[in-house]
Amino acid sequence: MSICDPGSTRINPAQGKAYDPLTADGPGRGRPHALSYWAATAGEEPPHDGSLTGDREVDIAIVGAGYTGLAAALHLACEYNLSIAVLEANRIGWGCSGRNGSFARVAFGRLGKQEWIDRYGINQARLMLDEARQGLNHLRSLIEVHNIDCDLTEGGSLEVAHRPRHARRLEELHRLLEESFDYRTELLDSTAIADRHYRGSEIHAGLFDSRSFGVHPLKLAHGLARAARDAGAALHVGSPALAIRRDGPHRVLETPGGRLIARTVIIATNGYTGERLVPQLKGRTMPVLSNIVVTRAMTAAEKTASNFVSDALIHDTRKLRSYYRRLPDNRILMGGRGPITESPAEMAAQTEHLTATIGNIWPALSGITADYAWGGWVNMTRDSLPHLYWLEDDPAVIVAMGYNGTGVPYSIAAGRHAAQLAVTARCEAPGPLLAPLERFMMSAFRRLGQRALYKLWGYQDGR
Ligand SMILES: Cc1cc2nc3c(=O)[nH]c(=O)nc-3n(C[C@H](O)[C@H](O)[C@H](O)COP(=O)(O)OP(=O)(O)OC[C@H]3O[C@@H](n4cnc5c(N)ncnc54)[C@H](O)[C@@H]3O)c2cc1C
Repeated sequence: MSICDPGSTRINPAQGKAYDPLTADGPGRGRPHALSYWAATAGEEPPHDGSLTGDREVDIAIVGAGYTGLAAALHLACEYNLSIAVLEANRIGWGCSGRNGSFARVAFGRLGKQEWIDRYGINQARLMLDEARQGLNHLRSLIEVHNIDCDLTEGGSLEVAHRPRHARRLEELHRLLEESFDYRTELLDSTAIADRHYRGSEIHAGLFDSRSFGVHPLKLAHGLARAARDAGAALHVGSPALAIRRDGPHRVLETPGGRLIARTVIIATNGYTGERLVPQLKGRTMPVLSNIVVTRAMTAAEKTASNFVSDALIHDTRKLRSYYRRLPDNRILMGGRGPITESPAEMAAQTEHLTATIGNIWPALSGITADYAWGGWVNMTRDSLPHLYWLEDDPAVIVAMGYNGTGVPYSIAAGRHAAQLAVTARCEAPGPLLAPLERFMMSAFRRLGQRALYKLWGYQDGR
């Protein structure tokens, strides 16, 4: 049985218009998965506890059943003997976690390594790279320990210079990583890329990192959910948190079917964070769309013509970057940012753009058609870093979000940190990540600002 519904992929029926976390009351209730390749191939949904009905009291309540919320629930249930309940408005992995690009890399946030050094100093920058590395290792070990079948594909990752001058940038990054961080990567010229990865246009050099791996995102979310529930956490789907009220030392989360009462609440809603549930977060998140197409499988002739044999997770050096990989069944996943809204016109234009990008890179594949196209909301933050912290004016509420499009490994690490924070009031994340999310300047005009920035970046990328 399919777990996605093409009719409601991008239009929130509750709103009657395209969904935007900045203006919607919430992400809806009980909505089907986006019509993604991942939803079509994930198999059965994992067991859950249905919608919350009546009153339930637990030690810790978690809002959002993506990687952050599920990882927090898993660690809390496994490592501390506490009662846990997760409230998910829609389904397990319904947000970014079930629909992302599948890239698990040593990464968090959007800043370059030199920017880490310039802003925070070399010692903090080294701690941050170490944290990102541990995040990836942690994900790998969770998959192993809990025996999660998520099509883990070893293949490394490759950043490709799409213009000759970007080849110089990759050389500098390669040197910086080695000399300042003792982190080894491999610099490839266009011939090596053509031999080992693919033959195409816009390849001037590449930086290869063998540590990265691909996953099936929704199977990963399902696996985390199974492990968390087996460890004792309750998972309530179709249960949007509509309001959080204080009641002495407790926080009461109102849902359509009942109330969840807890001493501590973890907010794990990332790019699907509404502006109303937690007033302290108003103006501090910037949800932006990332879109993906997955094509039909390449024919043998197309594969030979493009030599697209790579299992690497590839992205280019654009500001509005394209990211792509060959899937195990020889389909091509191509992703990128562009649309500002989920209006049918903008989403259709992006599908066309992403399909055309495939033809631009591999002229031999210019006739290939997309079988799946979808989008999702990633959460950009003002300082381009993820954040996890106790709300300053409510020490019962922890916030963990803001992965800036790189949350596959790091949201899981952040979930573990949030669990530790909830129990011990401390955690080992680097200092800059523990500060509260900063408010965006002129936050009421975030979409306007985004439009202007995308125009500028689009122009710069084309040069
Ligand atoms: C198209 C796309 C491609 C991406 N590609 C990559 C990639 O290749 N590599 C990478 O590292 N990162 C990628 N990301 C980002 C990554 O997927 C996210 O950073 C990560 O999944 C965030 O997980 P999360 O659990 O914090 O949030 P989510 O998975 O978004 O989960 C949040 C959940 O909260 C629920 N929710 C919201 N409000 C409420 C409420 N009031 N009550 C109850 N529930 C609520 C939502 O329904 C949602 O299910 C991509 C994202 C997208 C959209």
